[in-house]
This record gives sequence, C-alpha cells and structure tokens, in this order.
Amino acid sequence: MALQVYNTLTRKKELFEPREPGIVRMYVCGPTVYDKAHLGHAMSVVVYDVIRRYLEYRGYTVRHVMNYTDVDDKIIRRARELGVSPMDLAEHYIQEFERHMRELGLMQPHVKPRVSQEIPWIIRVVEGLIEKGHAYVLENGDVYFHVPSKPDYGKLSGRSLDELVEGYRIEPDPRKKHPADFALWKAAKPGEPSWDAPWGPGRPGWHIECSAMNLHHLGEQLDIHGGGQDLIFPHHENEIAQSESYTGRAPFVRYWLHNGLLMVGESKMAKSEKNFVTIDDFLKEHEADVFRMMVLQSHYRRPLAFSDATVQQAEAALARLRGGMKPANPQAPGLDAGPAAELQHQAQEARQAFIAAMDDDFNTPEALAALFTLVRHINKAREAGATDAQLQPAQEVLLELGGVLGLDLLPKTGAVDVQPFIQLLLEVREELRKQRLWPLADRIRDRLAELGVRVEDTPAGPRWYLG
Ligand SMILES: [Zn+2]
Repeated sequence: MALQVYNTLTRKKELFEPREPGIVRMYVCGPTVYDKAHLGHAMSVVVYDVIRRYLEYRGYTVRHVMNYTDVDDKIIRRARELGVSPMDLAEHYIQEFERHMRELGLMQPHVKPRVSQEIPWIIRVVEGLIEKGHAYVLENGDVYFHVPSKPDYGKLSGRSLDELVEGYRIEPDPRKKHPADFALWKAAKPGEPSWDAPWGPGRPGWHIECSAMNLHHLGEQLDIHGGGQDLIFPHHENEIAQSESYTGRAPFVRYWLHNGLLMVGESKMAKSEKNFVTIDDFLKEHEADVFRMMVLQSHYRRPLAFSDATVQQAEAALARLRGGMKPANPQAPGLDAGPAAELQHQAQEARQAFIAAMDDDFNTPEALAALFTLVRHINKAREAGATDAQLQPAQEVLLELGGVLGLDLLPKTGAVDVQPFIQLLLEVREELRKQRLWPLADRIRDRLAELGVRVEDTPAGPRWYLG
C-alpha cells in the first residue's frame, strides 16, 4: 500500500509522489489577521498539522510554509475603526495566532511569511507578469491580471470563462479589459499603507502574495497546496494563473488539498455570519485535544458540524482512548503466554489498519476506529489480569499512533492538578497589582516563569501556558 491523496485539480485520488523523492513542499494559506481567530481558522490549521505529522511519520521531510496576510482591506478598515495603525493591529493578531498555535499543539510551520515583508518578491512577480503580457497597468496605477491570457483558467474550480462572466452580477469595472480580470496591485490611497513599485506606489492585491511567497520559500513547483474549500475560487484559481504564467511551468502544484468547512447548522462558521466561537472561548472550557478529536472524527474533506453534541462526542472519544493507557491492577496475576502474545499481535494489526486508513487520503475516522479497537483489546487484557509489562507494548503502539494524529494520550493528572493552584496565584497577583504592590506581583510572575509557567497579561486578564 502507498499513500493516495485526493487532488481537487483532477477530482480523483492519486498516488502521492512528490517531485523530489522524500521531500514534500507544502504551502497552506494562513489567516488574515484583523480580528480574534475562531474555530473555523483552528480547523484548517489542525487538518494540515495532522497531514504533516502523517507525512513525517511515513518518512518524508516536509517543508511547511504558512502565510500571514497582514496587508488587506479588512485590516485597514478595522484599524481605522479602532484608531490604530494597520501594521500594529496585524502584529497584535499575529502574536495572538502564534499563541493559539502553541495552545492547539500545532507543529510550527518552517516559514511564516508576511505580506509586508515579501514586497520585493511580489513586485518581481507582478513585473514579470506585465512583461510577459499577462498583466496590465491602469492610468491610476492599479495593475490587473488579464484572465483570457491564461487559456486553461478555471481548471481547478471546473468553471469555464464564459460561466464566470455570467456569474458576475455586478456591473463590470469599465477600466478592466475583461470582467474576470483581477487586481494584482492597488494604487496608493491616502491613509493606507503603500510601497513603491516601478509602475507607481500602492499595495498588493490578495492573491498575488501566495504566488510570490511560494516562489520565494518553496520554488516554482510545490507538492501540496492546502486551504479551505472556500479558497478554491477565486483565490487558488488565481494563484495557479499567476504562478504558471510567471514561471512558464505547469503544474504549479501537484496535489491540491482542500478541507471542508466548519459548519454551524446550515452555514459556515464565519465572522460575517456572527455564528463563531473564538479559539480563546473554546479553550476556556475544553482542552485543545477535544477540538483536535472533533476534527479527526470527520474526514478532512467533509464539512464538520460544530455543536454541543459533537463536542461531547469528542470529549468522550478522547477519554475512551486515554482509558487504554490506564495501568494494570497492582495485584494482577498476569496473562498466560498465549493471550499475552495475542495482545501484541493485535497491536501490530492496529498499526497496519491505522496506516491503511491514513494512506487512503488521510482517513482519520477510520484511523481512529483502529485505535478504538486497540483500546478494547488492551482493556480486555487488563480485565483478564494482564500486568503492566504485558500491557506496555500495546500501550506504546497506542501512544505512538495517537501522537501521529497529534493527540496526547498520556494520563493528564499532573497538569490538571496544578491548574487551580496557578489560577489561585494569578488571582493573588491581580489583587497585588490592584494594590500597586508591583514588586510582589512581579515576583509571582517571575517565579512562575522559572517553574515553566508563562504568564501573559491581556486586556481580558492574565493568561498562562506551560513552556
Ligand atoms: Zn493563499
């Protein structure tokens, strides 16, 4: 068996073969940092975290890049509302997202480029597209990509150019050569961040940043490009048009992976729908692995229903897996050689079933089923009188495979026990701060830091995390 992945571009499962054997170049579109992140954002990063962990488990070296969109209309608008600079606002939410990635137990992407730091590469690509006749400059300094210059435009989303034109309900901008043409560069406006470019000052449009960052950090052709299904059109369609037109090489991406969206009832969780739960609010009530478990219980390409029921199911499932790690009864008489060997055999079978499931387009619900079967065998052996030494090999397989999914299945008693004490210390520290007893308050923070507990003061009060 070998890994098969579903490719949005070809609409079928394909044998996974990176361009360079053993190396996977993977780019995932990251957040636009203008407000608090919600669970919809968390879902996407958890999905690609699991995919990366599995690729590494299978022996690949993964180079993982995730961008931050820190120059954007939404950021500028919100910064204006709050009376702060767009760059300060973006920096604040980048730091917050970094904290979320730690709290959610994510592997760090190797590079996290930001638009504001990639301007020379963006200009290079826009300039190349103008030179090659794929883009044109308007009188005011806007630059547009000319969609008909890329005859296979629409191949990812499966739409023809004619269909696209019919789909444009708004009156097309008369300055554009074709209604589907999209902005690569927006001419500078007063009060907006802007950078100099050969055709005039301004800032990049949204799609161009990903093409430029890909080129800069991963080269002309990638193995995996990921993102939510809502990015297929127009964002990823436009990325293909820009990158293939600029480099003259196709395919820009070998495997396009798209995760389903987090749904609340009939609509996707989104800022605009006002149906979102922030990552902070969720983690106040639940540990991060509960969310991860919820994501794992649904195939990544399917929509994931968020509700109290799915959260409770995830909580129960996590507890069931952790139950497999319980020690043997100290008075256990031990199993006979036959049943003891049987448990080890069952653990090997579970590993094989797990790999077969994950090799089938990262089928995490099936992979979890293999783990639940293993837990049942372990629990049965424990009840039949297995000793710790007899349980251990199977429990190690359970830990190993749980780890591939990013789950921490080790009993949590230690961490759970310290929580109320840390909380108590922070309450005392808050009281000291109110009474302006700063040195004492600082001493609590510094001593906690020495013990590996970092305290962060936020407008919503102090937060702490380990490490
Ligand atoms: Zn992108």
